[in-house]
Amino acid sequence: MINWQRIEVASNRPYPIFLGVPLEGLGEYLQTRSLTFDNILIISTPNVADRYLDRLMEGLKDFVVNTLSVPDGEEQKSLARIAQLTTEAMGLGVDRRTLVIALGGGVIGDLGGFFASIFMRGIRLVQVPTTLLAQVDSSIGGKVAVNHPAGKNLLGSFYPPMAVWTDFSTLETLPWSEVQNGLAETIKHALIADRDLFEYLEKNLEAIRRRDMTVWKEMAGRSLAVKVKKVSEDELEQGSRALLNLGHSFGHALETELEYKGITHGQGVSAGLVAAACLANSRGMLNSAEVERIVNLLKGFDLITKVDTGALERLMEHMKGDKKNQAGKKILILPKGLGLSVIVKDCTDQEILLAWQDVT
Ligand code: ADP
Ligand code: ZN
Repeated sequence: MINWQRIEVASNRPYPIFLGVPLEGLGEYLQTRSLTFDNILIISTPNVADRYLDRLMEGLKDFVVNTLSVPDGEEQKSLARIAQLTTEAMGLGVDRRTLVIALGGGVIGDLGGFFASIFMRGIRLVQVPTTLLAQVDSSIGGKVAVNHPAGKNLLGSFYPPMAVWTDFSTLETLPWSEVQNGLAETIKHALIADRDLFEYLEKNLEAIRRRDMTVWKEMAGRSLAVKVKKVSEDELEQGSRALLNLGHSFGHALETELEYKGITHGQGVSAGLVAAACLANSRGMLNSAEVERIVNLLKGFDLITKVDTGALERLMEHMKGDKKNQAGKKILILPKGLGLSVIVKDCTDQEILLAWQDVT
């Protein structure tokens, strides 16, 4: 049974995730922690701030609060934006006793979190994720980063927040294409470690599509529980945390090929999951009926299972640059049945090429 209120993440610096809590309630929780800081800096984006800043501020009346706004878009995850935030923060008198609240999706969580991790060698951070992807995935595990022309998330650190504050009601305003990003990661989580979740998604496909919030909460809670478990076992990704990379080696190659413009992260992961499933099938780790169930579930959420690019050689080339590779060997995560995945280190280029052919 999941405790809906609070899950602890094991870490060098353990921290709680609060689930199904109202934005307005964060202030009250912080009152009990106020000895460690005396003012707050909220980092958000206009889209999210317009909708949710007032609700968050409702609970923060007893604190001195400043807000910095960052435009939308992955390109904001840059060193230039970190420099800009630093200038603005210095102008506001932000110092080592400031608490940063990152209010938004994965971009704000990564950027605001990285800022908190390096400003004056690190100031306190609370993540308030407002997208499904951020709630079930990116706000958990302490990874924060910005991009560099040479690679995505190339500059970053492990920086566990003081807490993650998750209000599912913020999902009500999320556009479907953003919901899909979180659903792709959720199907990934099911395939890594939770067969029941996979079946729950199959059974509740229609309810999920019509945004039945009771079902969404159950789905998100189970999905994030997989992430919590994996990062708690292996915070610094020296072993089993790599399982969370299922579908991502293929997905990132696609995103790179399409220069992150022609495809969303969720769609990349979706096609990547199918490629991994096909490769697993060719190795006898997954039968054809199981591959079909994965494909049907992804299609049920309008996620792609085929891609329109003939550039197989280039996709292979992009996979060579995967951060997870070791000594030139491609490390892949493959599903073994539904609800368990394993790290595989001996896939040949030929096998990988055939998997690509299955999705193109
Ligand atoms: P991700 O979490 O997938 O990395 P982003 O941080 O890029 O996503 O956010 C995706 C988009 O969704 C942005 O335009 C952001 O402003 C918007 N957004 C974030 N949370 C919400 C929300 N709860 N309702 C509506 N739009 C939101
Ligand atoms: Zn992902």
